[in-house]
Amino acid sequence: MIQDVLKLIEEKESLKNKLETVSNELKDAVNNLDLNEFDNYDYESARHLSAQVQYLIDDERGKRLSDIVAAKKVLKYPQLLKPTYYPEIDTLNISDEEKLRLDKAAYMNIRYYMSVDNLDRLEYKISIEDLELLKSIGVAEKRYSFRCKECGDSCITISESDLEKYKRVFKLEGMGNSLTDELEKEFDELYEQGFCCISICCMECDFDYEITNQKVLDDYRSHMKELYKVVKNPDLTFEKL
Ligand SMILES: [Zn+2]
Repeated sequence: MIQDVLKLIEEKESLKNKLETVSNELKDAVNNLDLNEFDNYDYESARHLSAQVQYLIDDERGKRLSDIVAAKKVLKYPQLLKPTYYPEIDTLNISDEEKLRLDKAAYMNIRYYMSVDNLDRLEYKISIEDLELLKSIGVAEKRYSFRCKECGDSCITISESDLEKYKRVFKLEGMGNSLTDELEKEFDELYEQGFCCISICCMECDFDYEITNQKVLDDYRSHMKELYKVVKNPDLTFEKL
């Protein structure tokens, strides 16, 4: 019946208004909440409430609330006083505070190819020194992007460890006939693995180039860009708690 429909429409409108009023009241209540009250709550309750109200509060309060929850998490799981995403960071000779910062910086930037050109644009800061430290323990890798000499596009990217193998081949090749049996074997193995020459070809402008010795590689330096990438999968055990 039409009467029923009209009644339901009216009821829906009324509930909509009520919902809006309650939402506003909730927003006010959360923004006026004394955050010290969280002292009496355990980590799980604080995290649950925080997740539900984060979108209602301003950035500064949101940050304070996140800090409170994070502090409670550390109290409950003291393992978080050490690096947990990449536990090997603990072996580095830096302060505990630096270890935690580096651990988080590596995790937060895991998706990016980082270079001197884009570090300042990263939301979570990390430096070349940091990346070198991460490289030293196998968490990050350094790569070289070979650019087209004509248009500057990236043609091929080679990891630092692979580039070392090419360089080794160039060196052994340069030694000519003076190779010992052992070096000859090393050379053959690297050659068979494909580390004989670096081929650079650009799809855009038909640029084709081959690097077959150290001198040519050195000359190409200005067209090579150093990139870093976090390559190790993080341990997310504590992230899920
Ligand atoms: Zn090109």
